[in-house]
Formats: sequence, C-alpha cells, structure tokens
Amino acid sequence: MSLQGKTAIITGAGRGIGKAIAMKLAQMGANIVINDIPSSIDADKTAEEINSNGGNAIVCKGDVRNPQDVEAVVQQAVEKFGSVDILINNAGITRDTLIMKMSEKDWDDVLDINLKGAFNCIKAVTRIMMKQRSGKIVNVASVVGVMGNAGQANYSASKAGLIGLTKSTAKELAPRGINCNAIAPGFIQSDMTDKLSETVKEEYMKNIPLKRFGTPDDVANVVAFLVSDDANYITGQVLHIDGGLVM
Ligand code: NAP
Repeated sequence: MSLQGKTAIITGAGRGIGKAIAMKLAQMGANIVINDIPSSIDADKTAEEINSNGGNAIVCKGDVRNPQDVEAVVQQAVEKFGSVDILINNAGITRDTLIMKMSEKDWDDVLDINLKGAFNCIKAVTRIMMKQRSGKIVNVASVVGVMGNAGQANYSASKAGLIGLTKSTAKELAPRGINCNAIAPGFIQSDMTDKLSETVKEEYMKNIPLKRFGTPDDVANVVAFLVSDDANYITGQVLHIDGGLVM
C-alpha cells in the first residue's frame, strides 16, 4: 500500500494515536501535515522524527475548534504540498464525570473539539477534494460512541455524533469520489487511558476477548488501509479496533 505523492493532514498528531498514524502514513510515502494545539511541543518532535527518518512532514498548529485556524492549516498544506488527499480527524479530549456533576464547560469543550473540530476540518478540505474528485477522510470515533459509558456523557455523545457526521459526509461526497469512514477504537494505551484507575482498566480487560489493550500502532495500521486505494469501495463505515470488546 503506497501513499507516494499524497498529502495527509492529521489533527492532534503530536502524541498518542495521532502520532502513530502520522508515522505510519509517512512510512507509506505520504507528505504529512501535523496539526496540534498552538502550545504543543510534541508536534515539532513528531515532525523531526518523521523528517530524520527520510519522511516529509510539516507542523501546522491550530485549534480545531476554530474555523480560522483550520482554514490556515489547510492553506499551509496546499502551499507546501499542492493538495490535500487525506484528512484524519483524530484530535480529541475527555472531561469525564457523572452527568449530575458535569459542568456546561466540560460538555462544550468536549463537543467543540471532538465533534465541531471534525466538522471544521471536513468543511475546510471539502472544496479541494471535490475539485480533484478524490479524497479519503477518517474520523476517529470510539466504541463509547456506540455503546455509551457511565461518566462519559459528553465524550460518548461527541463520538456518536462523529459517527453520524461520517455517514452524512460519506453520502454527500461519494459522488465526487471521496470516501469517509470512522474508526471506533476500544481501549488503546495512550496518555488518555493512562490516567484511568487500575479498577477501570481491570473492568475493561475482563470484557476484551483478545485479552490485551490495543496499541496506537494497532489503530494506525487500520487507518493506513482505509486511506489506501485498497479501501476504495468502503465508505460510511465504522470499523471497530477493540480486540472484540463490542460485537
Ligand atoms: P491523546 O494522547 O490525549 O492525544 C490527543 C491529541 O489531540 C493531543 O496531541 C492533543 O494535544 C490534541 N488536541 C487536543 N485538543 C486539540 C485541539 N483543540 N486542536 C488540535 N489538537 C488537539 O489521546 P489519544 O488516546 O491519542 O486519542 C486520539 C483520538 O483517539 C481521540 O479522538 C480519542 O478520543 C480517540 N480514542 C482514543 C482511545 C484510547 O483508548 N486512547 C479510544 C477510543 C478513541 P495536546 O497534547 O497538545 O493537548
């Protein structure tokens, strides 16, 4: 699977799953646009790692919540590499607490970054992809968007929304040769899950038939397939990467 000559924007690519996706797509030959929040130092480190391994990466910082930031990221990608062929909406946060304790800010922050952020990015690349009559969009949802989770009303609503956004985008853009799919990772080892208690981790493990947590590379490998030509006939789908947690 080669992505030679393609340009990929990956949001929240400074660390965790986004970084693994950036590294993988770079290995496949894609030009990489690493987006992360303006204060991120990790984004620069990821770009350095890719470039020192013979890849081609630039950093375009910006908050996905902000449509002007997102437009600027896309503009820089086009100026540097000439097009945008792949968009990975990976940036995401959690603000876990029970509904009765959840502040309006906790709700808004999670919905704004996880869902509106993806909408902003899709909107910003749509005209370019429609004009070139090709493109691949992958939205990083979660199993929690499918099954719900106590203490994650904001997060699960954002991820369920992302699945709806994926299906609408897939239908709207299919006539122009653009594929849009979602992935639903289960428990993946990253900074996001490291902060969960041992009890929560043990509970998850009990319900994972493959009896291990996923790695960012497990996720990156599936994304690599979805953005390749091998997946040209797949759109509007939600692919679970969860060791069998949800089936
Ligand atoms: P992570 O390690 O916390 O990484 C998230 C990245 O997103 C960070 O680099 C973060 O930047 C960036 N980010 C946050 N807000 C942003 C914004 N407004 N604009 C641009 N970038 C922003 O999380 P992860 O575990 O790799 O998760 C990546 C994605 O996978 C998320 O969408 C998450 O919901 C999803 N997911 C994760 C799991 C899991 O088990 N880990 C499971 C299912 C789904 P800073 O580091 O600079 O804050």
